[in-house]
Amino acid sequence: MQVPFFDLRDQFAAIRDEVLPAVAEVLDSGRYALGPAVEAFERDFAAFTGGRFCIGVQSGTTALTMALLAHGVGCGDEVITVPYTFLATAESISWMGARPVFVDIEPATFTMDPFRLESALTPKTRAIVPVHLYGQTADLGPIAEFAREHGLVLIQDAAQAHGATWRGQRLGETGFTACYSFYPTKNLGACGEAGAVVTDNEDVAGICRALRDHGQVEKNRHERIGFNARMTALQGAILGIKLKRLEAWTAARRRIAERYDQRLLDAEVQTPVRADWGDHVFHLYVVRSGHRDALREHLDRRGVGTAIHYPAPVHRQPCYAHLGYAAGAFPEAERAAREVVSLPMYPELSDDAVAYVAQAVREGTRLSSRRAGGSRA
Ligand SMILES: *Cc1c(COP(=O)(O)O)cnc(C)c1O
Repeated sequence: MQVPFFDLRDQFAAIRDEVLPAVAEVLDSGRYALGPAVEAFERDFAAFTGGRFCIGVQSGTTALTMALLAHGVGCGDEVITVPYTFLATAESISWMGARPVFVDIEPATFTMDPFRLESALTPKTRAIVPVHLYGQTADLGPIAEFAREHGLVLIQDAAQAHGATWRGQRLGETGFTACYSFYPTKNLGACGEAGAVVTDNEDVAGICRALRDHGQVEKNRHERIGFNARMTALQGAILGIKLKRLEAWTAARRRIAERYDQRLLDAEVQTPVRADWGDHVFHLYVVRSGHRDALREHLDRRGVGTAIHYPAPVHRQPCYAHLGYAAGAFPEAERAAREVVSLPMYPELSDDAVAYVAQAVREGTRLSSRRAGGSRA
């Protein structure tokens, strides 16, 4: 059996008959940037997330960049975030001329450890960007309390958390601007690049709407220096079709996660921990192993695709060497980078494939721990 880490073809086959006419309709309309298809998707996605405003943009990275700018983050500011995320979180902070300041993660959930925020605070701190990693929210309660106490902006990196909740609230209902990515592999993925800013703040929404279109508030009146970050009409139309299925897809991801959990009970891996504060949407199903590389090789031999999210924390990337963080600066992020492996996870993954992957993991952990002298994961 071959189980790829990820495969979008079955998903497309299931919606092909709806997508192709919608694509033709957009092409026939002659409006290819923004337009009615994007507006309709923005309304639907705002409703889905529980936010007041949704601004469709070119990518998750531009959503983060524009949200930071709209909330007043700029040159000389410091923004607290985590080193254990996709690079784009820090990258968008850097492009605003601000400095990313990292705090370590809480090991059970791989998300921002609120109790470390105090140590990162300086007079220059302007904002906090928690990342809802793998489909699970960071613990927004204490993070929001810290932000309120110190007058900081809070922006959510929700690129991996479409439909996730925090204490029963959808992310758009929390009152904090949330940035989404619709990169093809995300839980809601475009057939190309796209992203969105969701916010309750009317000023922020207006600024983002202008920013994505070169700062224009009306034709040829540029009030700010903006970006070319408009969502294309084709992506808006396709995302609208996919959004209607997102709840069913999320339910399928949760079922797959539960099956993995059950079948990995006797494997020497740490399966994902569900925080009591939120509903996991399983963008990724990530296990930890003390013999990660050996396990991965075994899975590869068994025809099971895997991936590492993320093999090097952001503070150890060459592009961030100038920040001066040494190895060991964030031990939990660095340990996670050594121990994690992401197993195949997508809604169309069959029960047989899940059973096969779990069996291969059980074998792989037995073999690698025996080779390492029986030490436990
Ligand atoms: C994917 C991702 C982004 C960036 O989104 P793009 O649409 O690829 O620009 C930002 N943050 C996190 C955590 C992501 O996973």
